[in-house]
Amino acid sequence: MSKNVADFFACDVFNDEVMKARLPKAVYKALTKTRKLGVPLDPTYADVVANALKDWAIEHGATHYTHWFQPMTGSTAEKHDSFITPTDNGMVIMNFSGKELVKGEPDASSFPSGGLRATSSARGYTAWDPTSFCFVKEGSLYIPTAFVSYTGETLDKKTPLLRSMDVLSQQAIRVLRLFGNTTATKVTSTVGPEQEYFLIDKDMYDKREDLIMTGRTLFGAMPPKGQELDDQYFANLKPRIRDYMADLDERLWKLGVFATTKHNEVAPAQHEMAPVFSTTNISTDQNELAMEVMKKLAVKHGLVCLLHEKPFEGVNGSGKHNNWSIATNDGQNLLNPGSTPMENLQFLTFLCAVIKGVDEYADLLRISAASAANDHRLGANEAPPAIISIFMGEELQGVLDALVSGGTYVSESKTFKIGVDALPDFPKDSTDRNRTSPFAFTGNRFEFRMVGSSENIACPNHMLNTIVASELCDIADQMERVPAEQFREELKKLLADIVTEHKRVIFNGDGYSDAWVEEAAKRGLPNYKTTADCVPHYADEKNVKLFEKFGIFTKAEIEARVEILLECYAKTINIESLTMIDMAKKKYIPACLSYSKELADAIAVKKSIDVCACVETEMVKKITDLTKQAYDATAKLEEVTAVAAAKTCMKEMANAYRDTVLPLMEELRNAVDALEVLLPSTIWPVPAYSEMIFNV
Ligand code: ADP
Ligand code: MG
Repeated sequence: MSKNVADFFACDVFNDEVMKARLPKAVYKALTKTRKLGVPLDPTYADVVANALKDWAIEHGATHYTHWFQPMTGSTAEKHDSFITPTDNGMVIMNFSGKELVKGEPDASSFPSGGLRATSSARGYTAWDPTSFCFVKEGSLYIPTAFVSYTGETLDKKTPLLRSMDVLSQQAIRVLRLFGNTTATKVTSTVGPEQEYFLIDKDMYDKREDLIMTGRTLFGAMPPKGQELDDQYFANLKPRIRDYMADLDERLWKLGVFATTKHNEVAPAQHEMAPVFSTTNISTDQNELAMEVMKKLAVKHGLVCLLHEKPFEGVNGSGKHNNWSIATNDGQNLLNPGSTPMENLQFLTFLCAVIKGVDEYADLLRISAASAANDHRLGANEAPPAIISIFMGEELQGVLDALVSGGTYVSESKTFKIGVDALPDFPKDSTDRNRTSPFAFTGNRFEFRMVGSSENIACPNHMLNTIVASELCDIADQMERVPAEQFREELKKLLADIVTEHKRVIFNGDGYSDAWVEEAAKRGLPNYKTTADCVPHYADEKNVKLFEKFGIFTKAEIEARVEILLECYAKTINIESLTMIDMAKKKYIPACLSYSKELADAIAVKKSIDVCACVETEMVKKITDLTKQAYDATAKLEEVTAVAAAKTCMKEMANAYRDTVLPLMEELRNAVDALEVLLPSTIWPVPAYSEMIFNV
């Protein structure tokens, strides 16, 4: 059977093609202007768009519509309203107005606002984001929206992203004009997120309270085999996984998601899906949608999709490599080295803006990937450390060195003069890349690898957009004053200064080594190991200044975000701790006690007939000791968790979970995991790692 994806791609999406076919010419034109250039849509046109949307949605099986938004915690949010309007004769007609399309007023009082709405006592509303297409799913028309308060405070993840995209565009255009570009009118940031995930059997999942409550295993001894053979990476797909992935592709394609790459990842039961890149806001929406579909579809296949950053200790966790670049609407990728001397200098300008931004705002990038879950991944074996550094690669490093030393770069075959000759083509081959860097140049984009698998990518991208916009603004401020004939020389000087001043953030070696941690400390690079360590720096003066300068956040909005992030961290660990206590008390300790009793009974019988019971005696002793350890750790964990939960200052609370709760959770886990290897699998109350990660 032939399958031409083009025949059904985006069949559930109200995209440009549908708009063109269904909207009057003038309305289509106005809407396109709104979508592409951000020009506000004439309110009289909104009714026309709404009506066309409704008719199309009904034809595609929708009875309801929902303003779809991305609150500050959790995934996406939706509330469904039907299109029905009662008529005089007791019947209904299907209605949808421009007002309903453009603005929604969900009773959103339960969404976290970090105290913002308490002070302004304003309710939130959702505003249509026409830059991202509406789609139909499960009987509802989904309208992508931003969520803000009536007094204008941002209450979601999308608003800062949209704002940062505008800011980046304005500043990048200023720089492009300096290079004589008169054709580009808009610059957008692009992203292709590589989504890692685990699939396990639903029957196994249902037996693990920890997976159900927290998304990760809180206990579990290492199986005899882990990932040491690397036999899962790119391995042939097992039938069940292959069927799931095929189903996933089809579902995502119908929803207009550019899913393109799929393969097995390093850890047993781990996989990846990557889409073709798109603008950062569309890619963010698509990634949220993809994660939802991945989870829902898995259940249909008798599987569960785990998006947690560290579902299983001892094997790799999951990240979401955020491949980021900047593109103009006249067709240039600004992080592509380019093939003319002028493009060469232009590329280096954008590159230096990234280098300076990443160095000056490393803390913000670290914060953008911070969560209780991702803390288990950063700094562990497979993941980049919590230190932000940039990998340049040999060629580009050579070019930067030449820039500083005054101008010529000698590659294998040629000598290039910086700003005079075109740059050589840098290899884009993945084998050449350093995979241990959290922020790597990969030929024509940067790959930010610190981001966690379950995370909404709006935050890392609005951080990247904003910090690079700020650096471009500084460069434009300085260079706009320089007479044209001195432009090249002055710019080269400025770029050389930037490289000299910020080269400490560049590191081309092994980012996983202990030596790097030491070296980074010497260079003065921040190393915030946990979420509780880094999040308070969000509100540092330089960061507040940055966000206020570009109208992304006010100080109050940043402080609200700090509260929310810390609260989420504390709550996550609280739930994990309570789940561990529950499992220890109701499952593990009773299982150990009953097995000890079984052994004790056997000892008694043997003794009564004068037979040696030395194995049983030794085992009873070991199991009793460890059970006592588990019992004591449970009691202590209960105590410290209650103390942490009672703190009233959010920062103190987060620190208490980090310093007192997490260590005891580890102590309890160690005791239980040691018991797991002593008890027969028939008695052990939950499925073992080997049953979960090797059985699909
Ligand atoms: P690898 O695993 O080798 O890093 P993948 O093919 O899995 O590569 O993923 C690369 C990702 O980078 C894809 O999502 C791709 O669309 C994205 N990408 C490629 N070019 C750009 C660009 N200019 N801007 C943003 N993302 C890009
Ligand atoms: Mg990658």
